Amino acid sequence: MDIAICGEKIVEKVDERKARTIDASGMIVMPGGVDIHCHIAGAEVNSGRLLRPEDHRKDVEAKTSLTRSGVGYSIPSTFTTGYRYARMGYTTIMNPSMPPLEARHTHEELDDTPMLDKASYPLLGDWWFVLEYLRDGRIKECAAYVAWMMKATKGYAIKIVNPGGLEAWGFGRNVGSIDDSVPNFGTTPREIIRGLCKVNTLLNLPHTIHVHTNNLGKPGNYATTLETMDCVKDLASANEPIIHITHCQFSAYKGSDWRTMESGAAEIANYVNKHNHVTLDLGQVIFTDTTTMTADGPFQFGLYQLTGNKWVNHDVETETTSGIVPFRYKRKSAVHATQWSIGLELALLVEDPWRIYLTTDHPNAGPFTAYPKIIAWLMSRKARAKMVKRISRRARRKSLLPSIDREYNFFDIATVTRAGQAKALGLTWKGHLGVGADADVAVYDVNPEQVDPSKKHKSVRKAFKASAYTVKGGEIVAKDGKIVKPVYGRTYWADVQLSSPFEVTEHLKRRFREYWTVEYENYLIPEDFLHASAPIPIQAEA
Ligand SMILES: [Zn+2]
Repeated sequence: MDIAICGEKIVEKVDERKARTIDASGMIVMPGGVDIHCHIAGAEVNSGRLLRPEDHRKDVEAKTSLTRSGVGYSIPSTFTTGYRYARMGYTTIMNPSMPPLEARHTHEELDDTPMLDKASYPLLGDWWFVLEYLRDGRIKECAAYVAWMMKATKGYAIKIVNPGGLEAWGFGRNVGSIDDSVPNFGTTPREIIRGLCKVNTLLNLPHTIHVHTNNLGKPGNYATTLETMDCVKDLASANEPIIHITHCQFSAYKGSDWRTMESGAAEIANYVNKHNHVTLDLGQVIFTDTTTMTADGPFQFGLYQLTGNKWVNHDVETETTSGIVPFRYKRKSAVHATQWSIGLELALLVEDPWRIYLTTDHPNAGPFTAYPKIIAWLMSRKARAKMVKRISRRARRKSLLPSIDREYNFFDIATVTRAGQAKALGLTWKGHLGVGADADVAVYDVNPEQVDPSKKHKSVRKAFKASAYTVKGGEIVAKDGKIVKPVYGRTYWADVQLSSPFEVTEHLKRRFREYWTVEYENYLIPEDFLHASAPIPIQAEA
């Protein structure tokens, strides 16, 4: 069918004689890609760039008459990041871990990243105000603070990383289960997750709570993940998801140590298939040299001890922590190959593609530029079998992949790379090509009537690597994998309206004076600080 575009939107009809036409016959047309979780901007990402000159040297992009030069394989510079997403047909990304104290830097870098609409998730799971209010069971007050925080930092969703564990890491400790006590606060990870889940519902935020589980990256952690999903089950109404488990691959391990580590994907998928309140994204491992970075400081310390690689450890003034360690995933490592297998197992065992999304937790499990490779694995048993043959023998023996026949079709791919992600994010004007949607379109040069992706996985991979056309906001921005028009996207943020507006207390201001190096006045990001501010007005129930 024909798709008509007028201005920045998809419309019912246009005057064909006056319109410019793209002939997409024999090609696949999808909405612009949406990435629910990729670390592309902010203090953490920039520290990663500083840590790794070798990552820049090996991957250089020259300037053209239209585009700027750039560097970086796993942590590309801002312009290069925007171009590379646009070349793959992506038009919207979510930057998932923003310490509120570093919101200014994050937005500066996001504004420097062309071609994409974007939003950020402030890290709130270990924020002192949250911990205090949840300890005292004051959900409504906590909600008011979170609403204020979204406005103050121009944030979009509640990010929770290793709840309680980051506060403990300030004292060189961690939590080991969702019922451990958080030092100095006496609350528990379970209370933090449940409390912020209630806050999320009270505020009517467009996305669910976005959770990086406790014990991430540790053998045996699939049990913690099951408990985490289950601990909010009773808070769900109808069929709506209320929790998103991010980069679930890293939280789906069985075994008691690295020698006995194996896949817990079947158990997790089984739970997700039986419960509607959960969504997941993959965190698919790619065999390559990359850079891991997360707010999970204690996890990164463990990774540093495991690898002996260079390491950044950072404490964001009591708000959150962070760590960075370069990492190479090797085919012949039993653990890495098992991680690789787990990601694909999750994608293939979770039955509903609307509840599992394709990510690499860029750059943690691999750079986002590897998405076409993952698409090929999902669509082709043959492509998977080829890789299974090349991995460590121990991992191969335990892998569930040879027993899984399922192959994604192009509809499934459209769902896990844009439609499902847009839906989970509450971006109702993204992820589809209906009238009223944003005119963000990706055209891929592969004919679904002639190409069997199961056999021709290489053609599929090639097509998704470089879109024939990427249209952003009604303009052709990339053609045949080349940028033809640099554009700037919007920054979405949650503009929550409360029935009784939140008042900034003297208590809050005093905390700024006593504890933080950033003054209260500088903490707030004014709207005109953003290149293109796009507030999402939300009426809270509180
Ligand atoms: Zn992440």
